[in-house]
Amino acid sequence: MINQERLYRHIQELGMIGKTAEGGVTRFPYTDEDEQAKEYLIRIMEEAGLSVTVDAVGNIIGKVKGKTKQKLLCGSHVDTVRNGGNFDGCLGVLGAIEAVHCMREQHVIPGCAIEVIAFKNEEGNRFSSIMTGSRAICGDLQKADLEACDQDDIPLQKAAEKLGYPICEYASCAYDFHDVKGYLELHIEQGSILDDKQLPVGIVKGIAGLRRYTICIYGKSGHSGAIPMADRVDPVTAFGAISSFADRMIRKYPDAVATIGEIYTYPGSCNVICDHVSFSLDVRSLVMRDIESFIKELQEEFRAYEEKGFRIRMEETQNLEPALCDEHITEVIAQIMQLSQITPYYLMSGAGHDAMNFYGHCPIAMIFVRSEHGYSHRPDEYTSKTDCAIATDILFKTMINLSNS
Ligand SMILES: [Zn+2]
Repeated sequence: MINQERLYRHIQELGMIGKTAEGGVTRFPYTDEDEQAKEYLIRIMEEAGLSVTVDAVGNIIGKVKGKTKQKLLCGSHVDTVRNGGNFDGCLGVLGAIEAVHCMREQHVIPGCAIEVIAFKNEEGNRFSSIMTGSRAICGDLQKADLEACDQDDIPLQKAAEKLGYPICEYASCAYDFHDVKGYLELHIEQGSILDDKQLPVGIVKGIAGLRRYTICIYGKSGHSGAIPMADRVDPVTAFGAISSFADRMIRKYPDAVATIGEIYTYPGSCNVICDHVSFSLDVRSLVMRDIESFIKELQEEFRAYEEKGFRIRMEETQNLEPALCDEHITEVIAQIMQLSQITPYYLMSGAGHDAMNFYGHCPIAMIFVRSEHGYSHRPDEYTSKTDCAIATDILFKTMINLSNS
């Protein structure tokens, strides 16, 4: 068993860096708080027996040697959203450090080398560019990412260079994956499925694929008092019906979710029948085919509205393939859970994680741990000490097992 007191103390201590008046944590990348967190992590990584390096973008990498030169990667992030919680990302990094610390205390030499990585800028809350660290390691970072600005118009590159990171050399961060056995990430669920099912941990089947659209419904604008109801082509009424249709149809597909998060009316006046409504649509599923059939059904519905005099434009703004977790590793995790008297439960990750960038480069797997009430990205995000310990213990045993396989 891992040392749950030490693990929880580390979670609390890291949570003090960037503490807000509201009781949350704000730790944006390339800030003083982020640098303090780096110093803290380097210290506890070294205490765990890891030798630490920091790469050009600021990823903190702790390495421990094993019996072979192959390596197993394990990590997450320690940046937060504005006024976020203590557990998102941090548990994955601190749990992996704890696992290595226990190997050392228990004189376990892993079968291969292990690298624990705290990735830079996963959340993308300061700059418009996200997952800087894991994308750099996977060779997917682009020059345009360095130009992303924060709200004070400071480009990411400038913020990083000010703190001494030679970020223009980001290509040097990329790994050669031929000797990488896999990538493992422990993360809080950030949803309420495990809490509803009263399970401490779950095995992630994969990270959902994502399609995002901007949709515009055009009608006939006019005076709100003068145009009789019978003569109207009001895009707001079409929007209402279409959004209910989308909500109803998406439920046919298991695990799939669809969200309309932004809605604008133009010109947006109380006494004007609007000219057009523009809204966002975010659709996620592990099965791309499901997303595609949902979109087809939606487009057929659009045609029905076009026959009623509306005009509808749909533009795809983002298209990410799902990242499926490796069957062998998930099987290993399931066996370890059974030995710990925990029923393996499989779930999809609707949220993106650093792990998705490793998909296609090496086998990936994720362990989710229960978030109380599903709260996340808020100050009262909470996972109990016992749940953190159970999940980290599964991670610990999985790391040893995979390093030897
Ligand atoms: Zn996270």
